[in-house]
Amino acid sequence: MTDSNKKIIIITAPSGAGKTSVTKYLLQKNPQLAFSVSAATRQPRAFEQNGKDYYFISLREFHQKIKENAFVEWEMVYEGKYYGTLKGELERIWEEDKIPVLDIDVHGAIHVQEQFPAISLSVFIEPPSVEELKIRLEKRGTENAEGIETRLKKAAYELSFKQQFNHIIVNDDLQKTFSEANKIVADFILA
Ligand code: 5GP
Repeated sequence: MTDSNKKIIIITAPSGAGKTSVTKYLLQKNPQLAFSVSAATRQPRAFEQNGKDYYFISLREFHQKIKENAFVEWEMVYEGKYYGTLKGELERIWEEDKIPVLDIDVHGAIHVQEQFPAISLSVFIEPPSVEELKIRLEKRGTENAEGIETRLKKAAYELSFKQQFNHIIVNDDLQKTFSEANKIVADFILA
């Protein structure tokens, strides 16, 4: 892909607001898009695949990559758990003439946006309320009570950054959110 065609799509939101569902929907609807697989130091969940959902690496390997300047951005998203977008991953996707879609936390999204202001599109998925977010996280069942509490605290803080993104979609109806996001992305792909 020539430099003038390179683009990046960032989907961000507090955990549990629906950004992974939105990301999956966009990828399924738009063959020009490809999921940017992040590196992460947490344990894989059941059904998660190395190289598909994340590159699951050790803390040591993660630190090595920081030293090598291999990340576009990285964050300790939760206590002791590191996540990062690899430069090589974006390059790999651009090489395939596709647009990377990043499903990343709010701080990571701000960093990517700062580095690629001219070529990035950022969409913030807002939960209807923190109470609703709690219900969703409980239903999802991937966190224990302490994990849910941590994510809720972080969510309240992350909501304060929403104005920094190109678009905000309040996810009170998933189908409506899907079509709104798809319209925004379709316009960006064509622009
Ligand atoms: P989970 O552990 O639930 O898969 O992800 C936790 C959070 O980390 C989510 O908000 C997810 O979007 C975010 N995340 C995933 N990959 C990255 C990344 O490469 N960088 C940053 N900053 N956050 C990420």
